[in-house]
Amino acid sequence: MLVTTNDMLRKAVEGHYAVAQFNINNLEWTKSILLACEEKKAPVILGVSMGAGKYMTGYKTVVAMVNAMVDSLGITVPVCLHLDHGDYDACLACIEAGFSSVMFDGSHLPIEENIAKTKELVALCHEKGISIEAEVGAIGGEEDGIIGRGECADPAQCKLIADLGVDLLAAGIGNIHGIYPANWEGLSFETLEAVKALTGDMPLVLHGGSGIPDEMVRKAITMGVAKVNVNTECQLSFAAATREYIEAGKDRQGKGYDPRKLLAPGAEAIKQTCREKIDLFGSAGKA
Ligand SMILES: [Zn+2]
Repeated sequence: MLVTTNDMLRKAVEGHYAVAQFNINNLEWTKSILLACEEKKAPVILGVSMGAGKYMTGYKTVVAMVNAMVDSLGITVPVCLHLDHGDYDACLACIEAGFSSVMFDGSHLPIEENIAKTKELVALCHEKGISIEAEVGAIGGEEDGIIGRGECADPAQCKLIADLGVDLLAAGIGNIHGIYPANWEGLSFETLEAVKALTGDMPLVLHGGSGIPDEMVRKAITMGVAKVNVNTECQLSFAAATREYIEAGKDRQGKGYDPRKLLAPGAEAIKQTCREKIDLFGSAGKA
């Protein structure tokens, strides 16, 4: 059965480690992540972006696949199925489809509108027993061009949103999505400290976890980050392993063109990335 983030993140805050959110894109991705987390006895949050949901033909397909796979693979660790960066309508669709958690990203909205919509969704989610993440301070990406540092959230605004009853909060602390540029200035620990001081036991989320130096991730976790999102890194390791297979001409040897063979090195690479992240975040054995 899919669970909310509540129990796993409360334990993470108390135990000073972080639960990994790994984003899924297809069956192979989901299978690799679930198997790696089961092997590590680590709780897991499966993130689904609106684009990935659409790619997998819709949120209902995702819910059915994940539920069935958890059962078929005999997964015993807690699994949360979480909408990543959803708009208002996507949140409604995922609540309806059977997700156990959603993220409402109203960070690009004026703060008043972010508050109003978040409030509405908090009530709806809690009525259905679903957890909800909100975001303050837009977390940009490489498409935004030259970035010295991502946006830093206003701690007072974080407090405002936290007080609406959200279960977890993403605050921009200089982090960005995708590959970090060479001139990136690193995380703003001053911002993180200020946000933590105002939001207390609220589990904080670090987005764009791919490419932040390990020591910065560790430090952020000791300062209250209880969930770290990983997406790009699995994509890169999958692509590298698949490229190696093709470039070695293995798809032209025997039945190497069989998708179950062709996608196997990439699937194994995702597992390895998951294992490394779980070790870094300290969530192994915490299921
Ligand atoms: Zn994100």
